[in-house]
Amino acid sequence: MQFPSALETVLTTLERIRDENLHRPRVSRTTLETLNRCAPQKIDINETKRARESKIDMLASVQARVAPCIKCPHLASSRTQTVFGVGNPDAEIMFVGEAPGADEDAQGEPFVGRAGQLLTRIIKAMGFARDDVYIANILKCRPNIPAGSFGNRAPTPLEMQTCRPYLIEQIDIIQPKLIVALGAAAVEGLLGTRGTMRELRGRWHSFNGTPLMITYHPAYLLRNQSPSEKRKVWEDMLQVLERLEKPINEKQRNYFL
Ligand code: SF4
Repeated sequence: MQFPSALETVLTTLERIRDENLHRPRVSRTTLETLNRCAPQKIDINETKRARESKIDMLASVQARVAPCIKCPHLASSRTQTVFGVGNPDAEIMFVGEAPGADEDAQGEPFVGRAGQLLTRIIKAMGFARDDVYIANILKCRPNIPAGSFGNRAPTPLEMQTCRPYLIEQIDIIQPKLIVALGAAAVEGLLGTRGTMRELRGRWHSFNGTPLMITYHPAYLLRNQSPSEKRKVWEDMLQVLERLEKPINEKQRNYFL
């Protein structure tokens, strides 16, 4: 039996004996002190577990509404599936991109194509596993493109406005310590702000009181391989680590993507 379960059994039994008034439970002072020291810890473990399970249930409930969503009929008819979000429901960091691309539409998971692989490398360089953070997009459906054409298109303001409430629900449930907006569309979807990334990135903004760092979308780094642009994204991520009060080693300080 796990220690918290054993402790719970002991406490329940002691309470039953007291309630039934059969006889006074006998327990040494040392044992009582030990039990009392452990009890708050037991409650913390259970509360943390319950809070996590509740977040998982709430996210599943939103996902169940997103999956059959047809609020944008043109996207609902062209998508393979909706792409909800993935990661730790207790994540400290939430990464928000713009919309699923072809790979994400096929696999049902955000950031799994080449840009996603680069994002995963960035997350690992920060000292996290991909499963430690939460990753989502403003749009849950792939923006449609004309038949026979290739590539991805940016979401329209109306599409983002229509889908945004789902993302707000995700953020409200996860309650990350901070959000990283990846690219201009994510910024527009979250803050309703339009501006050049040069003006917006690299400094702290606020999304309903949650600190928000803006940086380039990894797809931009794939198009623009200049070391200086890569370094800018990494410097933004160093600011994120500092804000979370994570230790940063020398290798990370000098890291280049
Ligand atoms: S983009 Fe969002 S709002 Fe539009 S159909 Fe897809 S899930 Fe629904």
